[in-house]
Amino acid sequence: MRKQNTHTNRLAAGQYLSEYIDICRNCNGSGIVNYRSNQGDGTIDTVRECLVCKGSGKVLIKKEIFVSINPIK
Ligand SMILES: [Zn+2]
Repeated sequence: MRKQNTHTNRLAAGQYLSEYIDICRNCNGSGIVNYRSNQGDGTIDTVRECLVCKGSGKVLIKKEIFVSINPIK
């Protein structure tokens, strides 16, 4: 299990914001994505900057968590 630098901030009663940096799943942390397209009689591989992480290979993941505690009747 990889250690993650997670910060959880309490926003309000029962409401939390969790933030952590993770490797971009779209490019597997490389920052670039290969696109293969058919051009006439062959295929052309194009390397482009990943649109999800903008080429950094990492993304900041934010999770808003709502906690509600209710009685069971
Ligand atoms: Zn990416």
